[in-house]
Amino acid sequence: MRRTRSVLLLVALPAAPIVGIVFGWRYVFAPLLAAMLLSWSIASLRVLVQDAQDDDGVPAVQDGPERTVFRCPECATEVLLLYRGTPKAPSHCGQRMVARTEIIRPT
Ligand SMILES: [Zn+2]
Repeated sequence: MRRTRSVLLLVALPAAPIVGIVFGWRYVFAPLLAAMLLSWSIASLRVLVQDAQDDDGVPAVQDGPERTVFRCPECATEVLLLYRGTPKAPSHCGQRMVARTEIIRPT
């Protein structure tokens, strides 16, 4: 893929000024803009996929005298995780949730 991209760049780079002068610069900049938007979209989706994967593949059970509640700073939604697959805080409303550790009162 990287080699294909390099060959395409080597072919397109000398041809870009010729195409721009003869046919118009929109035929040069429109594909560049499309390629930038496509790569940005794929990178954004790749971050979401990597964010959801476990670090070691084994989720950790949240038990013991403490529990961690995550709160969204945007809409105040609270989440109690029973299984924690990653040490990162979950996301909500496009932001990382804020962790709050509570000590469970024995009943
Ligand atoms: Zn939220």
